[in-house]
Amino acid sequence: MRVDTIVANGRIVSPSGVVDAAVAVADGRIVAIADESVLPEAAERIDAAGRFVLPGIVDPHVHLGGGRPLSEIFASETACAAVGGVTTVLQYRRSPSTFFETFPAELETAKTRMLVDTQFHFIISTMEQVEEIPRYAAEFGVTSFKFYMGGYEPGNPIGLVSVNDAVLYAAMEKIRELGPYGWCMVHCEDDSLVCHLTAKVKESGGDDLAAYSASRPDFVEEQDLLRAIWLADLQECSLYVPHTTVGMAVDAAAESRRKGRTVVLETCPHYLALTADDERLAGSGVGKVAPALRNEAHQAELWRGLREGWISTIGSDHVPIPKSGKGIWEEAPGFAGLATMLPVVLTEGVLKGRIAIEKVAETMAYNPARLFGLAPTKGSIQVGADADLVIVDMETEKVVGPDVTQSEFVSAFEGVPLRGWPTLTMRRGDVIYRDGEVLAQPGSGQVVVKPEPDKDKERNWHAA
Ligand SMILES: [Zn+2]
Repeated sequence: MRVDTIVANGRIVSPSGVVDAAVAVADGRIVAIADESVLPEAAERIDAAGRFVLPGIVDPHVHLGGGRPLSEIFASETACAAVGGVTTVLQYRRSPSTFFETFPAELETAKTRMLVDTQFHFIISTMEQVEEIPRYAAEFGVTSFKFYMGGYEPGNPIGLVSVNDAVLYAAMEKIRELGPYGWCMVHCEDDSLVCHLTAKVKESGGDDLAAYSASRPDFVEEQDLLRAIWLADLQECSLYVPHTTVGMAVDAAAESRRKGRTVVLETCPHYLALTADDERLAGSGVGKVAPALRNEAHQAELWRGLREGWISTIGSDHVPIPKSGKGIWEEAPGFAGLATMLPVVLTEGVLKGRIAIEKVAETMAYNPARLFGLAPTKGSIQVGADADLVIVDMETEKVVGPDVTQSEFVSAFEGVPLRGWPTLTMRRGDVIYRDGEVLAQPGSGQVVVKPEPDKDKERNWHAA
């Protein structure tokens, strides 16, 4: 027997531990994990040089849109994913009408232009779209749906439409029936409070990042989160909360789960590592994001949430938009994050002793894969899984900039020195990034096929 590739000399990371072993790959899959001496001959040998080998990162929160054609964005941004060790992106799509009109063409573009593998969440804005949720699941295999509870005022520059509680409540009833991968996802920010507080902050002359955060403070997120948990509880619907910034969410999720409910929290690298009073970001709109950056007290709680398992996933919330430089109030929210998400978490989390390396494999690969129906094909280094992995260098420091991220879109970490950069990214057995060079071609990424949901399966992943 002969295999295609052996990744030798690595420290293989899983949620339950780290083992020194070699990984054998054939036909894009992992066929053995063992001491190199007992593995078959390989056409190519990759020496991991004693470095950590993590499962390819599964980013549960990616936006691919903005002002440029999708055919360009799909290729350019998934090249940045490869740089960042991300081998699967779960991307949000939205539609001004029915997804049956817009999504099929986007799906075709994804198949021909992406460099990494992908699956989809839909952003739901209208009751008409709610009615179509069962058909979206049946025909597109999409089972996770995001709702903006607020945060975006009518006529906002990025065209997001907030929903009222009736839309959310009706949707939860439909999502509940979709089986174990059915998720109601909520952007928690109350837009009436945001509008009111923004007017007040502007009136008092605030025009920096701290003023922006003051215009949409923690309680604006907290009260929507509590309302979403309450509604999901009434509807017995699984709730996934993207981009959690507030410490209180950790206790709210814990309490809800103790009652047997499924409330899953995601946070983002920028909430774990940046604060609203960051002097580097103060004068520009680069750090503008919704929900807003907070403070160290919230940060400490988010790290605790990760350590204790109440926060399950870390998403980049990658938004490929050019920043206008027009000041905090005019600036569009969001920034690029795919290339830096792993180095940020390794630098701020693992190297600073806040979380163990196993937690990175758990929250950035294993959990997002299993929650969204991509496991066991994706999310872990195990026999039978896709050979998606990333080798990281915990020593060499590199300063975030376009030369490192290979992105034309600005990062909130621009100018920040980080370690834990990928040296090699492998996707289904192909080396798609190595030592600064993206090697994959557009169209080599695939849409991951979810297994048929078993409707009788226990939905509460955390109560088991
Ligand atoms: Zn959001």
